[in-house]
Amino acid sequence: MTKQGYAVIGLGRFGTSLAAKLLEAGQDVMGIDINEERVEDAKLMVTHAAVLDSTEEEALKSIGIRNFDYVIVAIGNDMQASILTVLLLKELGVNRVIAKALNKHHGKVLDKVGADWVIYPERDMGERVAHQLLSPNVLNYIELSKEFNIEEILIPPSMTGKSLRELDLRAKYNVNAIAIVSNENIIISPSPDQIINKEDKVVAIGNREDLIKFANIK
Ligand code: ATP
Repeated sequence: MTKQGYAVIGLGRFGTSLAAKLLEAGQDVMGIDINEERVEDAKLMVTHAAVLDSTEEEALKSIGIRNFDYVIVAIGNDMQASILTVLLLKELGVNRVIAKALNKHHGKVLDKVGADWVIYPERDMGERVAHQLLSPNVLNYIELSKEFNIEEILIPPSMTGKSLRELDLRAKYNVNAIAIVSNENIIISPSPDQIINKEDKVVAIGNREDLIKFANIK
């Protein structure tokens, strides 16, 4: 993976965990916070750090904020600071600005001032936990639209040892298998003769309700 430059503004729980993960993946990460203690505590999770107020244009310019590939605004509670920061970043020409929103209204304003991607960590995590509770066999999923998902589903015991042809997922459950994950191997566009073994996972695309039905087979 090529190295990208990331700046994370706001080193709370969300900002630090994001920075740590990026650093772990070998990326350059600059951690920024107005609070010196927060910056000090996050020093092991970033490549560079700066104590500054991101609502001050000159402060952002002084660290060359334009040169980062991604700037993530992880300020939440101080909505005014979060909105003003996003506005300044876009005015200064930062290419990709990602911003954390506390709620729908905050997110709407972040959109309006130019955020390229608005994230709702609490809302999304709540949805993911609910999804996991409703379908424990779903290990991972991507929402393609309100209607359709791609889901990685652990194969139920009643289906193991059979080929995709025998299982006939399309006719029986109205879902399409686009890959099989077997141990650490991923078989893309599996053939109808592919046998599904115990503990294999099916990556399936389909309507959300059909996927729930499929994922709840015992
Ligand atoms: P989290 O939910 O991620 O733990 P939090 O509840 O600690 O966050 P937030 O209000 O979301 O607090 O702020 C995250 C961080 O953003 C804090 O460490 C705060 O000091 C920092 N911050 C707030 N305003 C600014 C600013 N103007 N410039 C730089 N950093 C700021």
